[in-house]
Amino acid sequence: MKLDAVWFEQSNCYIDGRWCAPLGGGYLTVENPSDGCEIGQIARGQAADIDQAVAAATAARAGEWGRLPAFERGRLLARMGQLVLKYQDALTQIEAADVGKPLTQARNDARALARYLEFYGGAADKITGETIPYLDGYTVYTLREPHGVTGHIVPWNYPMQIIGRSVGAALAMGNACVLKPAEEACLTALAIGAIAEEAGLPKGALNVVPGLGSEAGAALSAHPGVQHLSFTGSVPVGSLIQAAAAKNVVPVTLELGGKSPQLVFEDADLDAALPFLVNAGIQNAGQTCSASSRILVQRSRYDEVLARMAERYEALRVGPAARDLDVGPLISGTQKSVVEGFLAKGRDLEVAARGQIVADAPEAGHYVCPTLLAGVAPDHILAQDEIFGPVQVVIAFDDEAEAIAIANGTDFGLVASIWSRDGARQMRLAKDLRAGQVFINNYGAGGGVELPFGGVGKSGHGREKGFEALYGFSSLKTVAAFHG
Ligand code: NAD
Repeated sequence: MKLDAVWFEQSNCYIDGRWCAPLGGGYLTVENPSDGCEIGQIARGQAADIDQAVAAATAARAGEWGRLPAFERGRLLARMGQLVLKYQDALTQIEAADVGKPLTQARNDARALARYLEFYGGAADKITGETIPYLDGYTVYTLREPHGVTGHIVPWNYPMQIIGRSVGAALAMGNACVLKPAEEACLTALAIGAIAEEAGLPKGALNVVPGLGSEAGAALSAHPGVQHLSFTGSVPVGSLIQAAAAKNVVPVTLELGGKSPQLVFEDADLDAALPFLVNAGIQNAGQTCSASSRILVQRSRYDEVLARMAERYEALRVGPAARDLDVGPLISGTQKSVVEGFLAKGRDLEVAARGQIVADAPEAGHYVCPTLLAGVAPDHILAQDEIFGPVQVVIAFDDEAEAIAIANGTDFGLVASIWSRDGARQMRLAKDLRAGQVFINNYGAGGGVELPFGGVGKSGHGREKGFEALYGFSSLKTVAAFHG
């Protein structure tokens, strides 16, 4: 496998350390969202391929991979991280072509993947149990053990980052993984298989089976040989995954969508806030689970914030990933129709500003103009539903109580941010906001791999990233020895 040049030709499943054609013989077309052209084919893995991958992972747990000391696992992950950095140019090009990410954003994802592998590589031998004082004559201690075989179903919007955080943490704990990437964006997942191979990961420790959600995804989530499921994606599919997990009585981590707000108070430092207010909505063309799609502004500064955001929107340029502009295309024609459908439902709203699609953007690319909508009622469908496109709504509030009521007034609870110089207000609101992450005078904190991440409500449950993920990818055994 060569990753030192732009790399699209490898399309098969990676199972048990080998590249194998799908047993059903079918392939799916890979499209470049920037111009609608076909750039390759990927295996259409199905239940039989998933069976093989789960068998390979089970054997890996019982074999070389399962016997490796934690520090050796860590060393292998660190080596994978180094290879990701070595091949970052190729990974950037692949992701830009496959997902439509502007090059800078694609490179950030590759570098984040390297950070996850470094972080979890370093953490692998630092997770310990504890001793528990107990009755006279007993010694009691706990062991953190891998679940066994873990299934990872990931979406198309940030393949490298999501694989880094979930597969990275699962491998660090000694699980053997079966990864089912999204059918729209499999190429970097397969590249990660190639990197694992080059790093010397024992066969079967990481298996990658591309394919459709309804086939390979459903087979993986229902497989009785899988002991933990990690899913990132939409709420309806997350709910199916949880039902499948319930049937097999296995734990599941769900990272679902969001409708994340930024709360701008009258004492906010607007110069500091403005880049975050806009970028958090349009990064990756708004196809980000933690996108900030709602901007809540205290009424006394509403006009000013709206005018300054509008100025930024008008400067936004949208075009092919290779041009590395502010915004690329959406992933697919389907996603474009979804976003346009939402915009049609918002025809009654005031369009405060739009970005611009460059004149030479290919007709067949999936471009949508970033759109800033003003005067939006908190219960409007565009202020409630996840759009997953470059659309933000601006909502006015009068006081803290109203700000919290609006911020918490959706089904979601992924992240939120507070822009204010008032320390007491920051502390109060950080407690009152219903979210898995709260930012004070920033948004996203640079995405830190160290920071536990996940949601409440329809945004899901369980935490990935940071040390917390290592606890999620392991189970605790209590050993109580009576020795008199
Ligand atoms: P999706 O739920 O349609 O697909 C996600 C993954 O699930 C894909 O790999 C797909 O093949 C698979 N899948 C689809 N149907 C399946 C089934 N029946 N059984 C098993 N697997 C199945 O989501 P999407 O359209 O790829 O991604 C967009 C959604 O994901 C958005 O709602 C977004 O907010 C969410 N998301 C959340 C996070 C997070 O960390 N919270 C990150 C990225 C995306």
